[in-house]
Amino acid sequence: MKITEVMKNRMSFSFEVFPPKTDEGVPKLLGALDELYAFKPDFISCTYGAGGSNVGRNLEVVTAIAASRNDTVAVTHFTCVGNTFDGVRKQIDDYLAAGVDHILALRGDLPEGWEGTRGDFDYATDLVTFLRREYGDKLTIAVAGSPEGHIQARSLEADIAHLKQKQDLGADYVMTQLTYDMDQFRYWIDAIRAAGVTIPVDVGVMPVLNKDACIRMCLSMNGCAIPRKLAEVISKYYNDPDGFKKAGIEYTVDQIHEYVSIGIDGLHVYALNKSEDVTTILNASGIRRR
Ligand code: FAD
Repeated sequence: MKITEVMKNRMSFSFEVFPPKTDEGVPKLLGALDELYAFKPDFISCTYGAGGSNVGRNLEVVTAIAASRNDTVAVTHFTCVGNTFDGVRKQIDDYLAAGVDHILALRGDLPEGWEGTRGDFDYATDLVTFLRREYGDKLTIAVAGSPEGHIQARSLEADIAHLKQKQDLGADYVMTQLTYDMDQFRYWIDAIRAAGVTIPVDVGVMPVLNKDACIRMCLSMNGCAIPRKLAEVISKYYNDPDGFKKAGIEYTVDQIHEYVSIGIDGLHVYALNKSEDVTTILNASGIRRR
């Protein structure tokens, strides 16, 4: 089943996990996945450590999702960083052999000190072009969209033009970068539609659970705004982790409700390899129950 077919009929629902850093982390993640399957997600995606050593475990994780006996589609993230034409062919062939035919095609976060990807692909546009040329319709391809504009983009308009380019080169749907700024999200969704981006938009929700992680996620790489409402939660519970988590869960539930009322095509929850907090959030939001 193609995820885009689901999105034609209703809002898709999905989780994101990341490859464990150690071999011992694998069974732990597989246990968390078993809990997450109970929510009947349409897909679970797994990140791909750009140029990193945990790329191998990415294949292990998506293979496990694809082999699980339920209707959950496995989606792998995949980046340009350090990848050659031959290397990409080899890896995509491995994914397809494992039953993984959905891919989020990304440029990738450049490791510190790198100016480019040091591979055969400079941008996600190059990767989408290559994947469509080599694999035709065998792959369902998602691409990233940044509601606040990618940190390296010349302008929001230029970034949206690149998103439109990714669609025109064959992308099937968009998966968004995290944002807590709902006014900006509304502006962006109207702006991309006005620019001719017609493919479905699957929205990423990063649960607000820990003060330091929340600040780091916004500011360390992505340059995402911390809106007043979230800033108030951070200030109020600055030295109270339990109070912060409780208020953060409420914040996340409100954000999910706001996205649903806007009318998005998919909701993608960053599960952070754990099921407990996600269960609390989803039960409170009422969008999915176990
Ligand atoms: P691109 O679309 O290539 O854009 C990068 C920059 O170049 C933008 O400023 C864009 O405007 C500009 N641009 C795009 N195309 C062109 C062009 N043809 N010519 C000139 N300029 C261009 N990173 C990882 O390393 N691993 C992951 O697993 C991962 N998962 C992610 C999941 C999601 C849902 C999202 C939104 C991001 C994820 N990232 C991941 C982060 C992502 O790799 C970074 O945000 C990266 O910096 C940009 O990736 P991109 O695909 O948006 O790049």
